[in-house]
Amino acid sequence: MNHQLKINTTHPDIRTIGTLLPYLWPKDSPKVQIRVVATIALLVLSKIINVLVPIFYKLAVDALSIQDLSLLAVPVLMLIAYGGARILSQGFNELKDAVFAKVAEKAVHTAALQTFRHLHSLSLRFHLDRKTGGLTSAIERGVKAIERVLSFATFNIFPTFFEIIFVCTILAVLYEIQFSLITALTIILYIWYTIAITQWRTRFIRGMNRLANESTTKSVDSLLNYETVKYFSNEEHEAKRYDKSWIVFEKLAIQNKVSLSILNIGQGIIIAAGLTTIMLMAAYKVTDANMTVGDFVLVNSYLIQLYLPLNILGFAYREIKLALIDMEQMFALLDVPQEITDAAGAKPLVVSKGVVTFDKVCFNYTPQRKILHDVSFTVPAGKTIALVGASGAGKSTISRLLFRFYDVTSGKITIDGHDLRNVTQQSLRQAIGIVPQDTVLFNDTIYYNIAYGRPAATRKEVEHAAKLAEIHDFVTDLPDGYDTMVGERGLKLSGGEKQRVAIARTILKRPPIFLFDEATSALDTHTEKAIQTSLKKLSANHTTLVIAHRLSTVVDADQIIVLDKGHIVESGKHQELLALNGRYASMWERQQELNPI
Ligand code: ATP
Repeated sequence: MNHQLKINTTHPDIRTIGTLLPYLWPKDSPKVQIRVVATIALLVLSKIINVLVPIFYKLAVDALSIQDLSLLAVPVLMLIAYGGARILSQGFNELKDAVFAKVAEKAVHTAALQTFRHLHSLSLRFHLDRKTGGLTSAIERGVKAIERVLSFATFNIFPTFFEIIFVCTILAVLYEIQFSLITALTIILYIWYTIAITQWRTRFIRGMNRLANESTTKSVDSLLNYETVKYFSNEEHEAKRYDKSWIVFEKLAIQNKVSLSILNIGQGIIIAAGLTTIMLMAAYKVTDANMTVGDFVLVNSYLIQLYLPLNILGFAYREIKLALIDMEQMFALLDVPQEITDAAGAKPLVVSKGVVTFDKVCFNYTPQRKILHDVSFTVPAGKTIALVGASGAGKSTISRLLFRFYDVTSGKITIDGHDLRNVTQQSLRQAIGIVPQDTVLFNDTIYYNIAYGRPAATRKEVEHAAKLAEIHDFVTDLPDGYDTMVGERGLKLSGGEKQRVAIARTILKRPPIFLFDEATSALDTHTEKAIQTSLKKLSANHTTLVIAHRLSTVVDADQIIVLDKGHIVESGKHQELLALNGRYASMWERQQELNPI
């Protein structure tokens, strides 16, 4: 579905409505389109019957005024017709709501799913810059906003609009055009006033939304950092930071309530003035004998019938206005361009040998700071290459580039000769299995987290992977075994346990290329040795890139590349590098002193 139908206007509300329309008229679903047409037909029908109701009422009043008991059948018939018309009008109205419910729910569902998918398609850069709390609340509010806009539009705005047209026409046809003109004038004045005041009020609401977002983000961040807050006894600091948004929020919320009262009072005055003027005119006509009492009652019924929903119209307009702001924020997410996209005609990567080549790769996250300078190396098929270097040298950046979370600034990265930019991202990421530096787990069971590596895997395969990752025994000793929940971000597991879950899920993925980023850093020496052996077995005959701080873990690598501030400064086998007596040798020496084996 094309969600980006743009209406050529600069007004953000119209643009937002323009973005919503294709969801209500999905080109690929004629059934939904039929429902929309049926909704409109039922709406018109219900309103036409609705304007007939007061006419039956008037006829009954007039018949009763004659006081001729032999004609009692007329008012009785009229009152029965009155009741019947009311039931019919309401019946069609309810039917309309039922028919439209599916259209509305489908639109909400599609928009939420599309936004969610889009967020996953955006780059790591976007996600690092954005705050997750803010993003999720933008979607949540956006989805609720679509529901609100649609319900107000179908329950209130459109019905009232039709009602105004029908009533004004009937008043002009049955009585005088002045009645219609004054009614129309009152309504125009009412709408103008409502829009003007609402626009003034919008700034308070926008501010409140922004602050609510800000405080959610702050509280989510603060609670995620619960342990850090405690380490530094910074509860008061956190409370103050959180309170800052609330102080301004409170002020804006009060202004919002006061301005609402101003709006309501003004609306009341306009309606009362319009109603009184017309009723005075009607009363004059009754005394002149130009109108019957029944006519007087009829005019009054029409006006009350019209003004009642108009009262809600003001509220609906305000709600829609606010909802459009929320929707605008959600749709704005859909407009964020994808930084990394599949090239036109990109083919799935088929790994035959698994040769990974970095060819004169330069890279910077921001234009101001170059991170990698002319990095060239090749990981031959089935071999293990280790990347070592000081913290911040650019080792993890290399792994992010290999996953194509970012595109290289210049140079190229290839797998079996295919430039990463020419293959589909999905196939590329399927070909590489990573055990990252910081493992973050889903707030679900251990089983779920391991099986995430290949959701279609059997229980036997999951347990086998867990055994290879040396975590099976630990898991089976837990009271809930594989069904143990790991807590938010996996915080209920120790660093080493999390790392072993990450290793198990990568084992389960069975990729042709492995990337271990400090894969065993959080483990004790004994477990580390055991896992190193498993990893070695696993990665035998697989192309493997190992990023390591502890050089003792990579002495067996086929080649070790030493990075310093984004430059390759040395490369070779362990013994060769020691013999060079350069950077690697001094790093080795320092680590031996700190951690003699
Ligand atoms: P460590 O061993 O500490 O993990 P590393 O060698 O893996 O370090 P990288 O994570 O690749 O280092 O980072 C290289 C440099 O790039 C660092 O100076 C870091 O500050 C910078 N950097 C990393 N990510 C970003 C980012 N998203 N935006 C800007 N700069 C970044």
